[in-house]
Parts: sequence; structure tokens; C-alpha cells
Amino acid sequence: MKVGVVGAGMVGSSAAFALALLGIASEITLVDRNSDLAVAQAEDIAHAVPFHSHTIVQAAGYDGLSGADVVILAAGVSQKPGETRLALLERNAEVFRQVVAEVLKAAPDAILLIATNPVDIMTDITFRLSGLPASRVIGSGTILDSARFRSLLGRHLGISPQSVHAHVLGEHGDSEVLAWSSAQAGSTPVASFAAQIGKPFTDEVIAAIDNGVRNAAYKIINGKGSTYYGIGAGLARIVKAIAGDRRELLSVSAMTRDIVGVTDVALSIPRVIGSAGIVTELIPELNEAEAEALNRSATLLKTTATAVQI
Ligand code: ADP
Repeated sequence: MKVGVVGAGMVGSSAAFALALLGIASEITLVDRNSDLAVAQAEDIAHAVPFHSHTIVQAAGYDGLSGADVVILAAGVSQKPGETRLALLERNAEVFRQVVAEVLKAAPDAILLIATNPVDIMTDITFRLSGLPASRVIGSGTILDSARFRSLLGRHLGISPQSVHAHVLGEHGDSEVLAWSSAQAGSTPVASFAAQIGKPFTDEVIAAIDNGVRNAAYKIINGKGSTYYGIGAGLARIVKAIAGDRRELLSVSAMTRDIVGVTDVALSIPRVIGSAGIVTELIPELNEAEAEALNRSATLLKTTATAVQI
């Protein structure tokens, strides 16, 4: 599988590094408007490859994306001091107006995988700019938040995160919704499992896990400026599901026809990912409070996305 990465900054290069080491892609091409950066990242990652796999890693212009099965879009500009989120969004939309057209010219059959934040809005913008079916425009969304949710639940219950099934829905950001009512340890609701093994499952425990998931990124940003390894590995996991047609259930962002009364909005729900991109989506069962919270998240995303003209 050939993977293109547009934006060879911290997130794009971390995704490329994970893909290369895990041997998920046979070929990775990095593109950046800063071509020296793209070349340097490609060489650095290429030097790691012989220890673990045999992926070819190179830097190129957009024409180098020809034949790519998946193109990760991680290009973007960072927030200037005093800049509003909406102004930043407008500048990133401008980046995508150029990038999406160039990518489609070189790789018209690729699945687009969006990592640039605010990822749900950028997914909506990419869907509109590209004219591709929604199944081929995938945002990393809450894949990382969901992994964090499973990991904290698993730690509390003393079981592997892989045995915990729990999803974070809606926006990848402040309005996200932790779907507690459907969270399961194996096939048992987490609250019953906690009761069975004598672990507390109090409001305090729930609040601590909720905070841990919601504030994970803020904590990392405080310590090191930005987050990239986690999302890089998450992006590699999505590409792995596509490469092997694995039909994995992952919480990712995509245009959603109708959810909790809001139509045509890009947000995260669990989706089945295979070689065609999104194979199908699962509308989760929610309690009343979760449905209301998801409605607020969806409404906020829709209002913000609608404000950006294509
Ligand atoms: P992040 O932490 O989100 O990866 P970075 O600033 O490290 O943020 O990376 C973003 C990358 O996107 C930078 O390397 C930048 O040069 C690149 N970029 C910005 N605008 C464009 C563009 N129009 N085309 C290609 N790459 C771009």
C-alpha cells in the first residue's frame, strides 16, 4: 500500500514513523510546502526503517502522490497569539483549498485521512472541497480520545484496554461525549463488571476518568507544546484497517447523514473501516443525557462548519 502524507510537521511525521516501523505501508511519500523539512523527515524516518521493516520513505512534490491508496492530510498553520479559533479555521481552510485540489489531481482514487485540527470541521471542508463520497473522507476524530477512555477504564478495572469497548462521540474537543451507558468490559456493562469484582464505580470514579480523557491533550500541551505520537499511532491504526480490509470498529469523524436530530454534520461515531474506507457506521444507543450532549456537540460543529464558505 502506498501512503501519502501532506504536512511533514510533528503529526504528519509521527504518522509516517508509525506506519514505517510497523511496516503497514510499502511506500510513504511526504509532501510539505517546506520541502527541506519533508526531505529531512523522510531521511530521518528512512534511517529507522532497516531496524524493523522495509518501507520505502521519500519526500516529493504533489506529483509524487500518484498511485497513493491513502493520503493523510496533516498540513496546517498554528494559532497566532490573540487569534480567534474561527480566524485560525479560516486560514486552515485556505490551506486545504490548495492542498485538496493538488492531492486529487495526483491521486484521484485515494482515501483522504484528515488529521488537521479542528479535525471535524476540516473533515467537513474536505468533503465539500473534494466532492468525494463521505466513505472516502475520514477524520481521525475521537480515535485517540476513545483509546484514552478504554485505557483509563481498563486500568481502573484491572483488564486490558483491548477488552474494553467504549467510545467517545461527537467533536474531537471540548464538547465531546463519553458514551458511558454503552461502555462494556467484554460483553458486560462496565458498572456490573466493577460490582462483580468489587471495584468502586462512583460519581467520583466516573468524573476522574471523564476528566482524564477530556484533559489529556491539555496536559500534554502544557508539558511539551503539542501532541503527536498518540495521534500518529492512531492514524497508522486507521491506515492498517484500510490496508488489510480489516473491518475494524473505530471512532472516526465523517459526514453523518442524520444523528440525534442534526443532519449532514462531520463528527465521530463508531465506524467500520475497510479497504473502501468507511464500510458502515453504528449509531450508538444513548441515554437521554448523552443524546442531549451529542445534540449540543453536533449543533456546535454544524454551526461552525456552515460559517466556512468553500
Ligand atoms: P502539527 O503539530 O499539527 O503537525 P506542524 O506545524 O508541526 O503542526 O506541521 C504542519 C505542517 O504543515 C508544517 O510542516 C507546514 O509547513 C505544513 N503546511 C502548512 N501549509 C501547507 C501547505 N499549504 N501545503 C503543504 N504543507 C503545508
